[in-house]
Amino acid sequence: MSSSPIETIAAWQEEFTAIRRDIHAHPELGLEEHRTAALVAAKLREWGVEVHEGVGRTGVVGVIRGGRAAEGRNDGPRIGLRADMDALPMQEANGFAHASTHPGRMHACGHDGHTTMLLAAAKYLARTRNFDGTVHLIFQPGEEGAGGALAMLEDGLFARFPCDAVFGIHNRPGLPVGEFGLRPGPMMAGVAFFDIQVTGKGGHGARPEATNDPVVMGAAIVQALQSVVARNVPAIERAVLSVTRFDAGQAYNVIPNEVRLGGTVRAFSNEIMALVENRMRAISEGVAAGLGGSAVLDFRVITTPLVNDAMEAAALGDAAAALVGEGHVHRDFPAVMGGEDFAFMLERCPGAYIVTGNGDSAEVHHPRFDFDDRAIPYGAGVLAAVVERKMPRAG
Ligand SMILES: [Zn+2]
Ligand SMILES: [Zn+2]
Repeated sequence: MSSSPIETIAAWQEEFTAIRRDIHAHPELGLEEHRTAALVAAKLREWGVEVHEGVGRTGVVGVIRGGRAAEGRNDGPRIGLRADMDALPMQEANGFAHASTHPGRMHACGHDGHTTMLLAAAKYLARTRNFDGTVHLIFQPGEEGAGGALAMLEDGLFARFPCDAVFGIHNRPGLPVGEFGLRPGPMMAGVAFFDIQVTGKGGHGARPEATNDPVVMGAAIVQALQSVVARNVPAIERAVLSVTRFDAGQAYNVIPNEVRLGGTVRAFSNEIMALVENRMRAISEGVAAGLGGSAVLDFRVITTPLVNDAMEAAALGDAAAALVGEGHVHRDFPAVMGGEDFAFMLERCPGAYIVTGNGDSAEVHHPRFDFDDRAIPYGAGVLAAVVERKMPRAG
């Protein structure tokens, strides 16, 4: 009886392109998305969607009920659909009319597009209600390192808006518009940042025998850390350990008392992340002690690995294939070492994450990146389609 959600949503292309470009022109940083959240809430209300604001600071949740759930008999099955809303602290280099109006802030990751896709899916689902159950529209703040997913979860997201499954989407430059990619199991890495404070005895650069030289300790630690991935992580697992900061001293003839190292670790399971942390602590402390000083590791997990539930990934892939054909859905899409904090929601609720093609654009986080508005009906369409397929309307 119903046509494809893509066809219906594509007829609204002009409306949603205008919304997307308006958000792009007014980027807001993580947990400060006041204008964006207000715009989202206003649009949802315009379409008759129940709105809850201030979930996890600037997060917004919309509720749409269909079938028996709409008749108030029970919630029925419940699906969460999640998009992120925040921009990045960087200067946009694009000169088009909808470029950022805020110096030093830019939607360079396409979250303006994700928010718009979820809005378009919301309008479609609210108009058609061709499903039997409850949809929770999760507009998340602060994905870019601001802890927005955890802020919503700690604010009772899944207690207040229970979900049997949750789905998220991200654009992907280099993948043609109208194509999708996902994979069962780990799809994006867990991310940790670390600092290592190395302390010893400094002194005159001409009299190293009167010191124990923390610079040599720091260099030895950097070298020894290279053994963690090579010698401790099993060869069939994947991990990255990069020391990216080495701050020491100010003068040519002074050996400093302290050296500060920093960097990042990526891994596809919490077990490997813990293994790397434990080895880093033992090596840093042991090497520094052996050279007469001390080292303290501060290891901070920023996001957990993003792991797609196999059954939900299959369901999301099926929804995409029903829209664009199996040939345009890459179900063995390569995992990447980048992180994504939707992983915290997937840790608490089964679900899946899919990427949608953004065509031949600059990479995300590039000053010339732009979201391709032609992708809106595809992203919105797959979110709407997974709802209709997983919660089919009886009769
Ligand atoms: Zn990003
Ligand atoms: Zn992003």
